[in-house]
Amino acid sequence: MIEQVKQWAESNRESIVSTYQELHELAEVSWQETKTTAYLCKRLDDIGFSYQTFADQTGIVVTWEGETDGPTVGLRADMDALWQNVEGVWKANHSCGHDAHMTMVFHALRCLKETGFQPKGRVKVIFQPAEETGGGALSLIDKGIIDDVDYLVGIHVRPIQELSFGTASPAIHHGSVAMMRGRIKGLQAHAARPNLGINVVDSLSAVIAAVNAVKPDPTIPTSAKVTKVRAGSDNLNIIPDEAEFGIDLRAQRNEAMDDLIARVTKAVQHAGSANGAEVEIEVAARLDAAVPNPLMEQLVGSAITELFGSEALSAPPVTPGGEDFHFYPTRKPHVKATMVGLGTGLAPGLHHPLMQFNLDALANGVAILAASVVKAFELQQ
Ligand SMILES: [Zn+2]
Ligand SMILES: [Zn+2]
Repeated sequence: MIEQVKQWAESNRESIVSTYQELHELAEVSWQETKTTAYLCKRLDDIGFSYQTFADQTGIVVTWEGETDGPTVGLRADMDALWQNVEGVWKANHSCGHDAHMTMVFHALRCLKETGFQPKGRVKVIFQPAEETGGGALSLIDKGIIDDVDYLVGIHVRPIQELSFGTASPAIHHGSVAMMRGRIKGLQAHAARPNLGINVVDSLSAVIAAVNAVKPDPTIPTSAKVTKVRAGSDNLNIIPDEAEFGIDLRAQRNEAMDDLIARVTKAVQHAGSANGAEVEIEVAARLDAAVPNPLMEQLVGSAITELFGSEALSAPPVTPGGEDFHFYPTRKPHVKATMVGLGTGLAPGLHHPLMQFNLDALANGVAILAASVVKAFELQQ
């Protein structure tokens, strides 16, 4: 079966690339993937799969019922693009490769069907909206989409700094990300009499110094930095009494993020209020770090090795970037999940407006996903 999968991917290179090019042109931002959803529905109709869409949001879930009872094996692709300035034009742009992910997941499904694969259980394909804003996976978890999924495989193209073209990794060790927002309330006064006011710019300066001085466990990679400040008005002769700030936090493990958030909260509250100002701070958004399942890492690793040889198998890259895929196993611990890292020669980097990669990598990804599904069903035998 693995050899058939490999040959199918080889002989369908052109049609795989043309799907990618069509999806690339449809680029839409988070929660607005309507044309993308319609395109994929049409393609699924053409190859005879039934699927579920949602009245209240974008996204598609395909369910392929086998003739016998068994586990549910899931594949997941994200769908959204980024809004960015591309050579002077602001537009939705697929610079994170989600067009490639949809292409590979769609063709993996097609590959399994056309090579005569019969699932001993159920295949579930999840086209998930809104990865970039962090809410897409959670919305599908809330709808119960993941409740019956036993094994789940995602995929993400990797930049050239992490994996070279022709290689793949059985997991991506994404870190945890959190964004914190804060407000400071002081007291206005004439700038000639600063002793009568509470200057929130002084508070901001203390907050920035305090965040930079936080000292978490140095054995786990972490970072915390103030990424936004706003205070004052056009009248430069008034002591300002309102400020806002934002902080970006990264930690390679979920427990380390809990610790970092606690330390930053305490530091900001103490430092910002030292002059009598009132400080509020909250976590505005958070993504969980990867917790790849060892069984799934081994399974995907054996798929990569059988398809392309042991020289194609790379160790999982450790990256401070985040991915909402990891909510599936952290929110639903029964789900055994991993995310394939695909070497594509991608440069200059993910989210760069002119990001490019070698399109020959798409067929490799299709084969890895299809072979991983085949192997996941073999676990039960
Ligand atoms: Zn991204
Ligand atoms: Zn992405």
